[in-house]
Amino acid sequence: SVTLPKPKKRRMITIANQKGGVGKTTTAVNLASALALQGLTVLVVDLDPQGNASTALGVDHHSGIDSSYELLIGEVAAKDAIQSSPHSERLFCIPATIDLAGAEIELVSMVAREGRLKTALSDEALEGLDIDFVLIDCPPSLGLLTVNAMVAAKEVLIPIQCEYYALEGVGQLLRNIELVQAHLNPALHVSTVILTMYDGRTKLADQVADEVRNHFGDAVLKSVIPRSVKVSEAPGYGMTVLDYDPGSRGAMSYLDAGRELASRTKSETESVAR
Ligand code: ADP
Ligand code: MG
Repeated sequence: SVTLPKPKKRRMITIANQKGGVGKTTTAVNLASALALQGLTVLVVDLDPQGNASTALGVDHHSGIDSSYELLIGEVAAKDAIQSSPHSERLFCIPATIDLAGAEIELVSMVAREGRLKTALSDEALEGLDIDFVLIDCPPSLGLLTVNAMVAAKEVLIPIQCEYYALEGVGQLLRNIELVQAHLNPALHVSTVILTMYDGRTKLADQVADEVRNHFGDAVLKSVIPRSVKVSEAPGYGMTVLDYDPGSRGAMSYLDAGRELASRTKSETESVAR
């Protein structure tokens, strides 16, 4: 008799917040790196035409290569668009090129325009690939790219910057998540909230953190990401902060956050507040 490999319980997580500069991309690549260090295999899908996640993971994303754009319009299979990150054998990326900038408009007239990423990243499409986590890095908008990410995944992770107006726009984000949940993806829920760019010297940062914890309860990771120059320098070297400066506070906090994220069970992520 043959022993079939146990099917993986792959977790697919959309990292979304329509506000720019809150740490979506930084969180996507550093959490991915942290999970890979734990022995998990991670695929980052870059859905931002800026391609910052691709840059930070050190993968090629020049215009014309097989990327998330070709994936969405159905010109390439996920397996053929995946690149490996040079810093870890367990870290992979489907890069974004500038070609993705037009996709938001091109998708409007396409069949099943909201479900294209879901199809492209389905179990069948990823069959045979040993992937534990798929992290989708969204652009700073609630357009069709983000909707595609919310239809593909069950979990949403919201990074919130510990700054003025931190919760501005979060209500709108939650309403959009509810709409997608009601009409396109009943399993969608906010599983995780991560506090980023925390500056312990300011009262404001603590006020924001308290407010976010009151609002989202256990969905908020205990690990808080500090504001740190190392974190912002790393992408310039095509690295995550875990490779760039493993001993730094930024690296340690993302490592902790990754452990916390991985240790959460399915039932836990579904019972937390929305
Ligand atoms: P988003 O993807 O939401 O637009 P980014 O992850 O690109 O946000 O972060 C915005 C900017 O803030 C980037 O320049 C990034 O390097 C910087 N940044 C993110 N997290 C930190 C941090 N913990 N400490 C310092 N700078 C950070
Ligand atoms: Mg980004």
